[in-house]
Amino acid sequence: MSQGKRTFLVLLGVPGAGKGTQARLLESDLGLPQISTGDIFRYNLKNDTELGLLAKSYMDKGDLVPDDVTIRMVEDRLQREDCAGGAIMDGFPRNLFQARAFDAMTADSGGVSLVPMITISDEEAMRRITGRRVCRSCGEVYHVEFNPPKQEGICDKDGGELYLRNDDTPETVRNRLYVYYKQTSPLVGYYFAHDLLFEIDGNRAIETVQTELKTLLAGGEKVT
Ligand code: ADP
Ligand code: ADP
Repeated sequence: MSQGKRTFLVLLGVPGAGKGTQARLLESDLGLPQISTGDIFRYNLKNDTELGLLAKSYMDKGDLVPDDVTIRMVEDRLQREDCAGGAIMDGFPRNLFQARAFDAMTADSGGVSLVPMITISDEEAMRRITGRRVCRSCGEVYHVEFNPPKQEGICDKDGGELYLRNDDTPETVRNRLYVYYKQTSPLVGYYFAHDLLFEIDGNRAIETVQTELKTLLAGGEKVT
């Protein structure tokens, strides 16, 4: 079935680069949902589903969940009504196989629109991830030092409890960075070759990165 043109953004960047933070801020502005495969796996884990159970062993180690399950999950998610205009992809695709599958999924609606890549150093990634705290109920993301909630341990948005993700430990982060360079970084060349890649310096304040992203999406010059 052929569909009209939709907007699909793919956010690239090492774990901790700020993909989730930026995607959440962009949602209302663009009127597009953030699709975080990590969040969907965590939701399944929390609800003890078969998918959650399968994903757990991979997530705990920081390895990728198998492609077939992940791709099927994204296909299902894209069928939902809120994706009628497209989506902001956060954490998917994560390897070339997934990127090709995503191209096929979106081919009828114009394919991937733009791939902003947020860059930070590995040291910064480690600082960001080990200080990350996430709301148990709404998934809002904080940092104990760089983006703290008003009240320690409590979500500003809904009062939910903030927790440290199981996989946000230094050992797992090291493996996630390794997995990123080995499996995800080939996407940089892939999207560059398709003329879709735009690099954004992620070593700046959350608001500055957001402003640059919006300028980029509006088709204007990059803010430096
Ligand atoms: P990702 O989705 O790429 O893994 P997150 O959006 O979860 O990254 O951000 C990782 C951590 O870094 C979080 O604790 C978040 O609050 C913090 N963070 C995000 N962007 C910035 C920034 N520009 N400067 C400082 N800290 C940031
Ligand atoms: P981060 O951006 O902070 O690295 P995510 O929340 O995106 O973390 O992902 C957490 C974990 O969920 C990954 O380490 C991996 O095990 C699994 N995961 C998320 N997205 C994918 C994907 N596209 N393919 C395979 N596994 C994934």
